[in-house]
Amino acid sequence: MRNLIPDHVKKLPVRHPSGPAVPGEIRLDRNEQPFAPSPHVVAAIQRAAEQANRYPESLSGCLRRRIETYTGVPFDQIAVGNGSDELIELVSRGFLANGDEIVVPKPSFFYYATACGAVGGVTVYADRNPDFTLDLDSIFAKVSPRTKILYIANPNNPTGTPVPRAEIVEILDRADFLVVVDECYHEFHGETVADLLPKYPHLLILRSFSKAFGLAGLRVGYALGSAEHIDFMHRVAQSYSVNRLAHAASIASLDHVDWAREKIAAICAQRDEIAKSLSEIGFIAHLTRTNFVLVNSKPIGRTATEVAAALREHNIHVTNFAGSPGLDDYSFRITVGQPHENEAALQVLRSLAVNG
Ligand SMILES: *Cc1c(COP(=O)(O)O)cnc(C)c1O
Repeated sequence: MRNLIPDHVKKLPVRHPSGPAVPGEIRLDRNEQPFAPSPHVVAAIQRAAEQANRYPESLSGCLRRRIETYTGVPFDQIAVGNGSDELIELVSRGFLANGDEIVVPKPSFFYYATACGAVGGVTVYADRNPDFTLDLDSIFAKVSPRTKILYIANPNNPTGTPVPRAEIVEILDRADFLVVVDECYHEFHGETVADLLPKYPHLLILRSFSKAFGLAGLRVGYALGSAEHIDFMHRVAQSYSVNRLAHAASIASLDHVDWAREKIAAICAQRDEIAKSLSEIGFIAHLTRTNFVLVNSKPIGRTATEVAAALREHNIHVTNFAGSPGLDDYSFRITVGQPHENEAALQVLRSLAVNG
């Protein structure tokens, strides 16, 4: 047999299935909404299910019209994807040829590098300041003639760090490549640079229905960009990647946005309480404008691996970032869950700190 696998595919990490849900488990590891979708959304999904024999609308016309109203960005500057993950793929397919580079200030969302590697691109990591804010000198030191894309998550995942608007403007003024501002946590943060799209055609914004709108299981995200860039992303897209149920649920979510706003406010309040409790116990809770907290366990003398294992004994899942780019072995991320879930996690963490 000839060697069929190209080198850039061989370099990709091995993937494993996440496994079925276990009854009673507390998932604070995926930045999901802990609440079930609203009755409006569930009813819209049920209605859409009755037409599941028909293909969904291609290129998401109805949902894009609804997003146009929600964001104020014109229809032809909006692309919808099967999760914002798919939009990251479309950006990679649309902009990167073999050997082209993306710049990512580490730590950040892992999928930028995966999607880049899948098309033969190269991820170049820039450093951040110790408090995880951006280091613009490090970013621009990593730019080369092959740089096509800079990814800035605002706020960042897994650190939660917000990016000041003035820094994004400075980056846009200096950049001659695509600047992707990932606003997946926009509704928790409240800030956006969508109003800068008319001035900066090399700006592309990503948003998601997974985190704030609680539709992670249906996979919907959208991109806002120049009409030209959105056109090229559509050319490399599948016709039917976003399904009927996802379209209906997203439209219903935007029609009842107050329901989401209430949940978001409650989650932000819980998040601040969790961060405060963690600091009081002796952990470092990093500044966050999202629905999660990046925590450092070094002051209590336990590695993130030890902390995650202790929580697992109580069927509680957090994300351990030991060994991942830009983070030390004491870094873990905890998503805000329902109040009783947060309290269960805090109880275990408290006992660790006391016995540490
Ligand atoms: C969760 C997340 C995504 C992916 O969101 P989906 O819409 O569920 O694919 C993208 N970017 C960041 C920063 C995220 O945290």
